Amino acid sequence: MPKNVLIGRSTKELEEWAISQGEPAFRGRQLHHWLYTKGAENLEAITVLPKAWRKSLLEDGYQVGRLKEIKRLVSLDSTIKLLLETNDGLNIESVGIPTDHRLTVCVSSQVGCPMACSFCATGKEGLLRSLDAYEIVSQVISIREVMGRRPSNVVFMGMGEPLLNMEQVLIAIRSINRDLGIGQRRITISTVGVSNTLPTLAEQAISILGRAQFTLAVSLHAPNQELREKIIPTARSYTFNSLLEDCKHYFSITGRRVSFEYILLGELNDQPEHANELAQVLKGSQSHVNLIPYNPIADGQFRRPSFNRVADFRRILERNGIVSSIRSSRGLDKNAACGQLRRDHSQMLTQPDVTYEDLTIG
Ligand code: SAH
Repeated sequence: MPKNVLIGRSTKELEEWAISQGEPAFRGRQLHHWLYTKGAENLEAITVLPKAWRKSLLEDGYQVGRLKEIKRLVSLDSTIKLLLETNDGLNIESVGIPTDHRLTVCVSSQVGCPMACSFCATGKEGLLRSLDAYEIVSQVISIREVMGRRPSNVVFMGMGEPLLNMEQVLIAIRSINRDLGIGQRRITISTVGVSNTLPTLAEQAISILGRAQFTLAVSLHAPNQELREKIIPTARSYTFNSLLEDCKHYFSITGRRVSFEYILLGELNDQPEHANELAQVLKGSQSHVNLIPYNPIADGQFRRPSFNRVADFRRILERNGIVSSIRSSRGLDKNAACGQLRRDHSQMLTQPDVTYEDLTIG
């Protein structure tokens, strides 16, 4: 956490910091309320603090740590996608997905991503840098503000590979939980798998959060090594079997069952034999499988599977006792899959606001 940023600090830390600044401890509690409950965008807006103190904090380079909104896309089903700018001028995406009973915030953990999965727009640009915890917490506050509603769930399914930024992701989860009041069980980390990280994740989660209660979702995307390698370049050095072994190990440490994501790419991994093979692989694991119909990206080499194909795939899993769900597409047009808002940003600024109809998170 940079020394001069306030978002991410707990009540106690803010109290101690206020005291170190020669102010009474209650100023720390006030600050906590204004940062997290009222969502102050900058120090000037925290009018409850003495003006002279605010001025000297600004002079000392302190800042709230909110990201700047650059672009907002609102879909017909009220899903909102934000393009946010970091202090050093980099762009990331965050999405708010509302339903009657939930508001799910999809956050980015990195600017870009080095994993280069073949179907993913974010991967096309490589990695610029990992995000700091406050930049992750900030995304949740920004979505809450634009949606005018308290988020109920947070998923790390925006840009980036969370396990390559494990410590900051866990520190962000601690703050989202403790300072924004979102239960750990309502938070999901999604990973395509990074070798030698799952047991470490379990241990670090226990050390930073006390307990590892968030959901870990692994982007499996194939029922075997051969096919997985074709879709995910990094699968070559981290094999299918090692990944599944590590998932079991993770469960043995945390007591939390890993769930799986499976992107359905038309004609490539969506055939009945793939569903049958996947069912055999996962038999007895009691793991949930989330099926994600591919959301076409601009230069995509893949096809979105037909509705019937997706339904058949699911039927085969269910018949074999594997519980699954199909991720519904939420309002985005073809330009706004994961990473595409940032990619198309310069072009979009010359266009009128886009209304989109078919969003899949990711
Ligand atoms: N790196 C992490 C989290 C970011 S991607 C991971 O791979 O899990 C979050 C999810 O969105 C992943 O399951 C990913 O496979 C999916 N995704 C990425 N691009 C997509 C696309 N074009 N269509 C559908 N799902 C996509």
